[in-house]
Amino acid sequence: MPSAVDLAAHPLTTWQGPLGLPDFTRIGDGDFSGVFDAALTAHEAEIEAISGNAETPTIENTLAALELGGEALDHVSSIFWCRAGAHTNEAIQALERDISPKMSRHFSAISMNERLFARIDELYQRRDALKLDAETLRVLEKTWKNFVRSGARLDAAGKKRLAAINEELSSLGTNFGQNLLADERDWALFLDEADIAGLPEFLKSAMAEAAEMRGQKGRYAVTLSRSIYEPFSTFSERRDLREIAFRAFTMRGQNGGATDNTAVVRDMLRLRAEKAKLLAYASYAALKLDDTMAKTPEAVHKLLDPVWEKALEKAASDQIELHRLAAEAGSNEEFAAWDWRFYQEKLRAEKFAFDESELKPYLQLDRIIDACFDVATKLFGISFEEKQGIATWHPDARVFIVRNADGSERGLFLADYFARPSKRSGAWMSALKSGYKLGDGSRPVIYNIMNFAKPPEGEAALLSVDEAKTLFHEFGHALHGMLTEVTWPSVAGTSVSRDFVELPSQLYEHWLTVPAVLEKHALHVKTGKPMPKALVDKMLAARTFGAGFATVEFTASALVDMAYHARPDAPDEPLRFEAETLERLNMPDTIAMRHRTPHFGHIFAGDGYSAGYYSYMWSEVLDADAFAAFEETGDLFNPALAERLRKNIYAAGGSKDPEELYIAFRGKMPSPEAMMAKRGLV
Ligand SMILES: [Zn+2]
Repeated sequence: MPSAVDLAAHPLTTWQGPLGLPDFTRIGDGDFSGVFDAALTAHEAEIEAISGNAETPTIENTLAALELGGEALDHVSSIFWCRAGAHTNEAIQALERDISPKMSRHFSAISMNERLFARIDELYQRRDALKLDAETLRVLEKTWKNFVRSGARLDAAGKKRLAAINEELSSLGTNFGQNLLADERDWALFLDEADIAGLPEFLKSAMAEAAEMRGQKGRYAVTLSRSIYEPFSTFSERRDLREIAFRAFTMRGQNGGATDNTAVVRDMLRLRAEKAKLLAYASYAALKLDDTMAKTPEAVHKLLDPVWEKALEKAASDQIELHRLAAEAGSNEEFAAWDWRFYQEKLRAEKFAFDESELKPYLQLDRIIDACFDVATKLFGISFEEKQGIATWHPDARVFIVRNADGSERGLFLADYFARPSKRSGAWMSALKSGYKLGDGSRPVIYNIMNFAKPPEGEAALLSVDEAKTLFHEFGHALHGMLTEVTWPSVAGTSVSRDFVELPSQLYEHWLTVPAVLEKHALHVKTGKPMPKALVDKMLAARTFGAGFATVEFTASALVDMAYHARPDAPDEPLRFEAETLERLNMPDTIAMRHRTPHFGHIFAGDGYSAGYYSYMWSEVLDADAFAAFEETGDLFNPALAERLRKNIYAAGGSKDPEELYIAFRGKMPSPEAMMAKRGLV
């Protein structure tokens, strides 16, 4: 029998390293498994103590005890998931497969715990008499709702049916994803040198590699991966091949046979409608939107409908120009969906001829990091001091102490910028520890992970515009974590609804291209001179290009998602419903939905963005409207406005309803005008 782990002494759970971090030098891969088991057991005992407490439920002995419970589990989890993303290996990956189901069983047992719910329910029913402060009341209501949405108030038969629906939905979601993957894997169009004239080098080499992987070395493959399909339809001079690729791409998941997703979608929509009814919601969208900023399908439409109209107008006028280009190029075919990207690229090259590589020497990683810090100091008064020689999960990760304006310590910021084989792709923010005041309180320890190419020793790392934007974006999320001022852990930092969480990050991106910031930080790596104004202007102008097409293809998908889920029942033939919905919307036949139903993984390969695809655009509305507030004052660092932004958005976490927070910052709800202007739609 393995010796029991002492949670009170283990470096994974007692963080006694420098600056209050865990002592990473004493943590081995072999430690996780035993500590997880011990921490799960300890948390179970805590839950049992709360639910079995003979005393009358109080905020203290029930809600606070629940929120503060599981500290050891939080500690080991946060380090483990950091390692799993940022510096993994086979041992960590094997553990992941073992730990994920254990964790989901553990937390679903808590949400099904009837005695625990009874205590929460008792507090909830007495909530008015308890005279709670607003944040505590909100946490109580959210906790109660989460239990209810997990079926806590259903009778035994209802609970059983809900569990069956959830299980069936989860396996249908997996089928959906696997069918899609199979369709994408099995289709390829093999081409030879003569077929690929005019394609850019990066695409040729990706197509050569794709062909080789499919046993056709020396040839080139068009595949249905977006990273090949999109550039191919953008650059290929061969209209016949573009048409073949277009048809294959838009028919993914709808090719008959074992991998066809039509019936999967029909069954999922039925089960979702049934689940909503069981939990007493008018529709599945109503259930999913209940705890978001939008709240109702009507509010989502209030946003999407005007955008849709403008996007249709813009796309129609763009199409006339593209058609002209096609005619000039000698095409006498009717302009079709497989022509759009191709001629749009020709137009882009004509209007905004500039090379990304002209910009790169001005975007040095260290300077852009300084720019992130500098903007945070100007807006929010916090500053950053780097500490050398602190052990973390990897030697590349850097450690900064975050200080308040008065010099006191606010928390820590860790950042790990370079790609390596042990890191998964992408960029993200997470917390080793979130910041809150409840109990003994906790100071935030926030980190950012990036995947920039590591330069040779002694050279400066240079970024593309997109990478510099990503750095600002993730740093915006990090600020949401670092500036948090809430009492309750469950509403700290980024614990906000799906359609609100991208506001702090997308808003922060705006300051990257503020003239004063570029002048100070976008300095040429050799000459030290700032980016010339002509280059800045081109970079900014290129941003709105092609917005008609992009907005139509996106918004069509968001509207169809909402149409499926906002009805009380489910369509018998989803694909006919999709076609009818698009017809009602006047969808142009020269543009396809960004995701058609049979391959709309966001909403069917799992539940993540069902009735939620709109939220990408919702966040964009928020960030454009919020930045417009600064523009309206004529001062992009307006101190009074920055303070309202800090207090109501970056510091408030999920402590209040997001609508209330936004209005407290802005004085009104956001309107889509600023976003449409930013996209060039007005
Ligand atoms: Zn984000």
